[in-house]
Amino acid sequence: MSELEFSPPLSGRGRGWYRGDCHVHSVVSSGGELTPEQLVADARAAGLDFLAATEHNTSETHGAWSRHVGDDLLVILGQEVVTRTGHWLALGIPSGQVVDWRYGVRDNMIDRHLEKVHRAGGLCVAAHPHAPYPSGTFMYPYQGFDVVEVWNGQWSSDVPWQADNEAALAEWGRSLAADIHQGRWRPAIGNSDTHLEDQIAVPHTVVLAEELRADEILAGIRAGRSWITESVAVELFFTVSAGDQSAGIGERLEASDEPAVARVDVRGVPSGTVSFHTEQGMVHRASLTCSGSDAVEWPISAADSAFIRIEVRHPEGHMAALSNPILLT
Ligand SMILES: [Zn+2]
Ligand SMILES: [Zn+2]
Repeated sequence: MSELEFSPPLSGRGRGWYRGDCHVHSVVSSGGELTPEQLVADARAAGLDFLAATEHNTSETHGAWSRHVGDDLLVILGQEVVTRTGHWLALGIPSGQVVDWRYGVRDNMIDRHLEKVHRAGGLCVAAHPHAPYPSGTFMYPYQGFDVVEVWNGQWSSDVPWQADNEAALAEWGRSLAADIHQGRWRPAIGNSDTHLEDQIAVPHTVVLAEELRADEILAGIRAGRSWITESVAVELFFTVSAGDQSAGIGERLEASDEPAVARVDVRGVPSGTVSFHTEQGMVHRASLTCSGSDAVEWPISAADSAFIRIEVRHPEGHMAALSNPILLT
């Protein structure tokens, strides 16, 4: 593999892997302590290429971001829709639009609000589904949502991977097999849910997009061409190849007579582990060296599974990075 694939994308131009945090609050959200200006500075310092502004039930800061951004940093306008029985993110909504939040699961109103966001070209994310506090736990069916936030950093203490993330990941991983076979699966996303200093980018999502532009970033997230990590120090390159065919994260490898091999190149997780997951569960786990720069391969056949995804964990077991699946026909 070439060095190029690990290189950061050129400043906002062309096809590349872009790092971003799609769940960020400023002072206008309860508990938020940072101004848009501070958040933008923190995002740049953390090495992000984009963020999504997701205040609680308001578009108040939508007009404030453009003064602070340039070609190197994209801000996607959004909202965290805080309802009575769970929170969701509307990403890519028009400036000034407020999504209604005054309902719960019993009111049977969620579908029409999801549809409004979809009609405007936006993306709907089920946020922190297993958050351990009343009304933060997500009680709606995932049907109608585009993406699930399996990794949310808000309840981190020193380790940005908690029991609610493990529960969300297990649920998502279990549903993937059936959803992929039915032709409609929901990619995973990871966000910091920043309210305070030093929270941004922990974790964040790394998205393959044609351009650093809101519609292209959202298209990459919607297609699952993304992986999640706690740190910009972690780099991941994951493919499945058979003969001269190759597919990356969120892509599909077409059937072939050649044997297929999944390969992950990972950096930045010394002495950690990488595991491969298919519809048969965890099929392989390998230890990483103390240098933290390793390549691991595993043979995979479409007869055994319609997908493969990976998790990279620290020696103590908490997550360093996880990928969306590569699909096999
Ligand atoms: Zn929330
Ligand atoms: Zn939030």
